[in-house]
Formats: sequence, structure tokens, C-alpha cells
Amino acid sequence: MKTFSTVPEGPEKSEEIHCPVCGGADFKKKWDCGGFSFSLCRSCRLILQNPQPLFEALDKRYDEEYFRYERENDRIFFNLMIKGLSDIGFDSLYPESGVERNFLDIGCATGFLVWHMQNKGWSSRGVEICGPAAEWGIRERRIDIRIGTVEQACFADESFDVVHCSHLIEHLNDPASFLDEVYRILKPGGRFICTTPNASGLQARFFKSRWRSAIGDHMFLFSIETLSRLLVGKSFTIEKVKTWGGLGKGYGPAYLKVFLDRMAKKLNFGDVMIISSRKS
Ligand SMILES: [Zn+2]
Repeated sequence: MKTFSTVPEGPEKSEEIHCPVCGGADFKKKWDCGGFSFSLCRSCRLILQNPQPLFEALDKRYDEEYFRYERENDRIFFNLMIKGLSDIGFDSLYPESGVERNFLDIGCATGFLVWHMQNKGWSSRGVEICGPAAEWGIRERRIDIRIGTVEQACFADESFDVVHCSHLIEHLNDPASFLDEVYRILKPGGRFICTTPNASGLQARFFKSRWRSAIGDHMFLFSIETLSRLLVGKSFTIEKVKTWGGLGKGYGPAYLKVFLDRMAKKLNFGDVMIISSRKS
């Protein structure tokens, strides 16, 4: 599947950052992608763009064109999110009980998952930075979506049983502060479920700078190790890690894809990972 990537018009303001995982400031160039590049933190091996565009530049990338991409793919993305949630056993963690529970999807796009959870009886909300996508969801799906960032939504402390985000954390400038905010708005024992490309997967190791997730819109490319370390550093307890996607469609014969997809799931070298963690 194609990964959406913006080609910014003209130069964007950028800045150098310290590593959000280990605090280090010693990086070496890893992949040159033409027009932008990824570096490696020598201390914890996080892959990141550094320098990276500022939020005010990134914010402008999520425009009408991004909305069209989200709208065209929203069923595909929804089905993938449901599969991911099934992989971590979501339905058995939350059997139907009649108790009101609160769900938040950050980076909810048009709100397909928010709508689905609402229909399952959850009190369900979304946050989305792309105004046209959020407005469409509010209007057509009649769901609660806050336009902007999760910090701008100013939710009260301990509001949610589950905070979910899919293909969001790799786009942020400051994933460490983002996790502080998620921690604050989760109820004690609440779960944070995060899906993101897996830089320790087979495809990242094989394709390197041509990996489909090595795009200009991704500020960070986490491995299972670097994302786990960041979460644990923010007082989350890792509960489950699953990955999927051994070989991209069209990169080899079908039998090889079936075999590698199965092995990726079993041995956790898949192209995308989902991590379920808890507020301790
Ligand atoms: Zn580091």
C-alpha cells in the first residue's frame, strides 16, 4: 500500500533536536533519501530526521490533499486497525459489561474507528489535526472529533480507559511530551495502544533508504526496542508487542509473501508493530 507523503513547496523552518529516547546528542547519518535524510542516535539507535521541520511547517502538510488520501483509504486503514487490535486481544481485554468506558483515537482522520467504538457502546472521541478530515467525520458520522493536537484538546486528567493511535507517533516532533500527555489523560491502569512502522523489521533492514516508511513526513522510525524504551521511560508498562507484514505486495512471488507474512507475525520482524502498554 502506498504511504502518503507530502512534498513541501519551498524551504521549511527546521531545528536540531536531542534524542527523545535517551537524551543523547550524538548522531550519524544513516539514510539519504534525497531532499531529506535519517540519522541514527549513536547511543540508543533511534532513527530520526535531525534537523527536522518545525510543527508549524508540518501542520500545513495535513491539508485537503491529505484528507482525500484518508477518505479514499479509510476502510482499508480501518480494517488494518481492527486486525491490529485483534492481534493484541482487545475484545477479550474488554468484554461487553454494560460499564461505560472511554476511548480516544488520536490522529483519527475521518473517525472510522471512533464511530465503530461508539457503536460498540464506548464513549468514544477522536483528535485530528487535518481540519477537513475531522469536519467530514463530525458531519457525516456524527462523532466527537477535536480539531488540533491532543495537547490542544485539553482533556481532563484520567479521562480515558484506552488511548489509541495508529501511524501517528512517527509524525510528531516531540513524542516524549506526547507520551506525557497520554499518560496524564489515561485513567490509572488504562491502556495506550500504539501502531507505527517497525524499523527493526525485515523490510526496513532490507530496503534501507528505499523502505516505504522512510518518507519525509516521518520524523522518527522506531524499532521495538526504541519505542519500548521511550514508553518505559514515561512509566508505561509494556504489555504486548505484535508485528505484521513480512513482504510488501508485488515484491516477490505470492507463496513467499504468505510464508514471510506468517513468519513475521511469529518472530516479530514484521513491517508494522502494535504495542499495548498500561499506565502503571
Ligand atoms: Zn538516543
